Amino acid sequence: MPSPDLCIRGQRVITPESDGPASVHISGGRVEDIYEFDEVPDGCPLVEAGEAVLLPGLVDSHVHVNEPGRTRWEGFATATKAAAAGGVTTIVDMPLNSIPPTTTPDGLRQKIEAAKGQCRVDVGFWGGLVPGNLGLLAALYAGGVVGFKCFLIDSGVQEFPNVKEGELHAAMFELARLDAPLIVHAEMPGPVEEAFASCCTGDATGDPRRYETFLNSRPKKAEDEAVALLLRLCRETGARLHVVHHSSSDSLPLLREAKASGLPFTAETCPHYLTFAAEEIPDGATEFKCCPPVRERENREQLWAALADGTIDMVVSDHSPCPPEMKRRPEGDFIKAWGGISSLQYRLPVVWTEARRRSHDFRDLARWLSREPARLAGLFGRKGAITPGRDADFCLFDPGAKTRVEAGTNYHRHKLTPYDGLEFDGAVIATYLRGEKIYERGEFPEKPTGQLLLREEPKKEPTIWDDLDDDF
Ligand SMILES: [Zn+2]
Repeated sequence: MPSPDLCIRGQRVITPESDGPASVHISGGRVEDIYEFDEVPDGCPLVEAGEAVLLPGLVDSHVHVNEPGRTRWEGFATATKAAAAGGVTTIVDMPLNSIPPTTTPDGLRQKIEAAKGQCRVDVGFWGGLVPGNLGLLAALYAGGVVGFKCFLIDSGVQEFPNVKEGELHAAMFELARLDAPLIVHAEMPGPVEEAFASCCTGDATGDPRRYETFLNSRPKKAEDEAVALLLRLCRETGARLHVVHHSSSDSLPLLREAKASGLPFTAETCPHYLTFAAEEIPDGATEFKCCPPVRERENREQLWAALADGTIDMVVSDHSPCPPEMKRRPEGDFIKAWGGISSLQYRLPVVWTEARRRSHDFRDLARWLSREPARLAGLFGRKGAITPGRDADFCLFDPGAKTRVEAGTNYHRHKLTPYDGLEFDGAVIATYLRGEKIYERGEFPEKPTGQLLLREEPKKEPTIWDDLDDDF
């Protein structure tokens, strides 16, 4: 056989079929093939994974980079550096919190300009669906976004307003025509307004420093009503739908029903919903605030069960940082604090720590953290698994080591995170992007080598008429 550019071998190589010894041969930045452990051609450069597990590079389809416009919150340079240190080789950027948002072709152009030359991992882009931009969706999709995101409730930033049912309904017919996925922040405003009035206004005002006050203001009912609406619209329009950061255990039966009926309906949850519990969040600890909220222990266990039975398809970070002053930590006001949790770098050790306690293995992790997010973003042809033909993206993870979250090794722009000071099982040792090392034990190469993953219009299949043209 011709010698590959590089071989990486280990005792635990995680492929869709197995978890065992193998040698991965890499040529031209792609996995050429997978062989027995000992099959390494003489003279071929070799990386020994040793005790580390060789996982496919992680894909995070839910990251708020915030550049351009709010680069002070996070940016491509810092976000992708943190991603590389966390074993993540592909992120997909959310269309909001940057200014302009990615809701127009010009907004997408500005995103691309801002990201160019700065990225240490590959980066794709979600477009935004907002009131009034229905006519631009086709152009945005042709321009390279992987799909669209919308909100059913106030997004927190004024330049990205939420859609109402009528607008959503019309847009979903257009998205079904384009075959573009729609990912949705699924909380309805009605139950939140009602709950807020009864717990956070007038005489009823609860202590804003108490987590319970905030939790009561974002009831499960808001998520449950949203999921029911989305399910109905999915049935009516045939558009592909995905619920982001799902938290309510009460709507899991609806999600199960959607799965059972074969609808194109998927859901994600996030490491914080699977790790923390409302009962344990201290007063004033606003770094735990996100929407929908982290709920009770009992709710968390139901989310784990839903992951185990496939009702929830994936775990992505929803990395949504802000400057620390916006978290209002000194006064500890949960109601006024920005909602969003910073965690891009830590998804793997955090999820592994909780997953192994529940008897899950690395093949489950590869599915939740890499394959399914890649599939959602239409990148599964290139990313999401260690298989021949796909990009040679890997994460070397040492299950015997520990990850301690602390400012000195946290590469996010801002260090405030609810994981700070905590220790998790396993540690990312090294990360490879298209066969090149982009991270190893705290070291990064000088030059960022990430690419922008702009969706390409599928090539037109030749038809019988093309053949006829040739004949005539
Ligand atoms: Zn988000």
